[in-house]
Amino acid sequence: MERDPVSFLRGEYDQLVSAELDWKLRTLYGPSQPWCNVEGKRLLMFCSNNYLGLSTHPKLKEAAIEAVRTHGVGSGSVRPIAGTMDLHLQLEERLARFKQAEASLVYQTGFATNSGLIPQLAGEGDLIISDELNHGSIIDGVRLSKGDKAVYRHGDPADLERVLGEAEKHAPSYRRILIITDGVFSMDGDIAPLDRIAALGRAHGAMVYVDDAHGEGVLGEGGRGIVSHFHLSRKDVHVEMGTFSKAFGVVGGHISGSRDLVNFAYNKSRTWLLSGSHPPAVVAACIAAIEVLEKEPQHVRRLWENTTRFKKAMAGAGFDIGHSETPITPVIVGESRRAKQLSDRLFELGVFALPIIFPMVAKDRARIRTIMNAAMTDEDVGFAIDAFTKAGRELKIL
Ligand SMILES: *Cc1c(COP(=O)(O)O)cnc(C)c1O
Repeated sequence: MERDPVSFLRGEYDQLVSAELDWKLRTLYGPSQPWCNVEGKRLLMFCSNNYLGLSTHPKLKEAAIEAVRTHGVGSGSVRPIAGTMDLHLQLEERLARFKQAEASLVYQTGFATNSGLIPQLAGEGDLIISDELNHGSIIDGVRLSKGDKAVYRHGDPADLERVLGEAEKHAPSYRRILIITDGVFSMDGDIAPLDRIAALGRAHGAMVYVDDAHGEGVLGEGGRGIVSHFHLSRKDVHVEMGTFSKAFGVVGGHISGSRDLVNFAYNKSRTWLLSGSHPPAVVAACIAAIEVLEKEPQHVRRLWENTTRFKKAMAGAGFDIGHSETPITPVIVGESRRAKQLSDRLFELGVFALPIIFPMVAKDRARIRTIMNAAMTDEDVGFAIDAFTKAGRELKIL
């Protein structure tokens, strides 16, 4: 009998569908903004990473359109060959100034940053120590490294210290040690104790790498991120990594740190060297996003006003909203089925918020993860609170 070499494609997909673990894509017709058209229904967007509403900001849109006029739609190459335009360099200079770092480097995405840089920072004879709840792009970056790997308990400096102590007994001794953590954890909205991690790194001579994808535009002075939030020195946090795809409202990964770091990173990261550079419109929109953060502090302020109000009302109504310290607010309901029911009912009531279920979170900690947006009005936030309360009562969550 002839064997069909691709029969597994349908088989594995069908398994996902029957376990209800397949992604059912919901389509936006038009922009991502507080009120979206999701498949013909007008919904309040509560699960976008566009924290500050910048994806539709007129200055970003204008900058993108103008860059198409002056520079075309594509860069034509990878950065090291012929794909570095004046705009790319301008963006990196602007970003370094914004981050108050010596230098910055822009990658195509945050995923490409983590997967391209981490395996270069630590290889054979080195050790990478990672928070157990780090983002998948960090996990993949760590997997690509030939170094040893260790995990410490989520957000637990004492456990990190234990791992560092064990590493010191390792023979032959490690050449380099890299500690890596998310800045803000995207499922619970908690902040990594980066001050204590940085102190441990300093005490043990380890590099410290923070992925601040959910802290930028949110934490620190004017949304500068977690390093600013904790007033840390770049002597203690060696790699500050982030993305333009979340609060900045566009797309693109980046790192900030020393000039030595940037020179090393762009000469070594395979994702940076071997993949086409950003089109001019993307770069120009990112530059405009930094300018907006510098000149219009009201967006970050507004994000926090909305966040505080929402958390207070939700906790007051009796919801379990975990221990988030950021605009990510989980609404924890227990079993997966209940989280799905709540999400479906919210959808009917006009709120778009997706369930996060096992295996992304523990089986009994299924939740709706909400993400606040600075562009929401008081009325919008009130609308969401009312919808959650109504659905919560109907489903006997409250
Ligand atoms: C979203 C995210 C990334 C990936 O960033 P992209 O630019 O979207 O590829 C990396 N790390 C963390 C913690 C994230 O939340």
